[in-house]
Amino acid sequence: EAFNAAVEGASALNAFITPTPELALRHADLVDADRAAGRDLPAMAGVPIGMKDLFCTRGVQSSAASHILEGFVPEYESTVSQNLWNAGCGMLGKLNMDQFAMGSSNETSYFGDVKSPWRKDGSNAALTPGGSSGGSSAAVAARLCPAATGTDTGGSIRQPAAVTGITGIKPTYGRCSRWGVVAFASSLDQAGPMARSVDDCAIMLGAMAGFDPKDSTSLDAPVPDWAGSLNADLKGKRVGIPREYRMEGTDQSILDSWERGKEWLRDAGAEIVDVSLPHTKYALPAYYIIAPAEASSNLARYDGVRYGLRDLPEGAGLQDMYAATRAEGFGDEVKRRILIGTYVLSAGFYDAYYTQAQKVRTLVQRDFTDAFGQCDMILAPTSPNAAFPLGEMQADPLAMYLNDVFAVPASLAGLPAMSVPAMLNGDGLPLGLQIVGKPMDEQGVLDAGLAIE
Ligand code: GLN
Repeated sequence: EAFNAAVEGASALNAFITPTPELALRHADLVDADRAAGRDLPAMAGVPIGMKDLFCTRGVQSSAASHILEGFVPEYESTVSQNLWNAGCGMLGKLNMDQFAMGSSNETSYFGDVKSPWRKDGSNAALTPGGSSGGSSAAVAARLCPAATGTDTGGSIRQPAAVTGITGIKPTYGRCSRWGVVAFASSLDQAGPMARSVDDCAIMLGAMAGFDPKDSTSLDAPVPDWAGSLNADLKGKRVGIPREYRMEGTDQSILDSWERGKEWLRDAGAEIVDVSLPHTKYALPAYYIIAPAEASSNLARYDGVRYGLRDLPEGAGLQDMYAATRAEGFGDEVKRRILIGTYVLSAGFYDAYYTQAQKVRTLVQRDFTDAFGQCDMILAPTSPNAAFPLGEMQADPLAMYLNDVFAVPASLAGLPAMSVPAMLNGDGLPLGLQIVGKPMDEQGVLDAGLAIE
């Protein structure tokens, strides 16, 4: 009965697109057999995880929460998921998400909204688990699985972690292979872990990361023992507070959590310093040009020939098939991104939009380089608000994009960034704090996260 209740509760959240309990059970038997035989067990032996549906998994539907990839069963395994299986993990299932990882609320999935397990005090309205890794955040927050994979192009690990009270880290761009991960914006996409604690994230990131010759932007650098080196003593560290992140319209409770974060880090021995990231206000507009531009190119491959859905109307030619397949197979938000992307890349507009956005990206990167002359890491809110009710923002894409305002700069700069739970707001909803580190300094980010946790 308890088991059935749990299954019912889990399906009410709609966190999984494809549950695979049989895989998890078979895996548990194998680990038991290894243990009984006294064989050495890897770091995550027997841990059943959830896998965001953006990762290709051999023999299991990998849809990116889209209709166009519905029924697509890869014959290959993404490098990151393979690394996790090698580290001993089993798979509980493929997790729901925003379609092609485009969104901040998990409302763009072809397979329906994901509901957060959280409720506002005194209200029963269903809340967003954040996005795009909303199946991952809901599943971990509801304790359906101890950890899950996420991907973060412009905040999709950190924002859902923040609004569901869990922990998630996006490593330095290139740390985790993109091979076998359905591409959204290739110069920004990064995989990372979402879990209940900094320690769990450090262990899981260690399993996911590593050089991969199959990804041309993979970082050819050793993976440090992050979990083994965790240290919450921040003596001698300087933490920068970017003054441009004090934005109008940010909830007072978010500002309060930021103040508390400073105190906790000071208590851990860190010195708090003011820094400036002068081009912050241009980061979001630049992101919403660069990400759709890359997406429009990446999504050209879904043509009805190679993968998933094919719509071939009676007597139709090739062009008709493309048009019919793409009209039916992509959701509204994905189409919006393709339209924006092809527009900013088109002759006559390329220089005004795309080239300009790339210049802004360089300025944003330089801001961080300059700031890191004065500090070792940066502390900021993860998101400008707590979880909002499902449906509330759907009609207003611009309001939705504003959710990413604190997350996007670190993405444009390729920097490691983590969200850790900070406190509950006046409505009893979780808020997260974000730590952004120097390139390749995941250790510094995790250590500061530990001090806050
Ligand atoms: N919310 C952002 C977007 O919609 C970021 C998504 C992501 O990081 N995958 O593009």
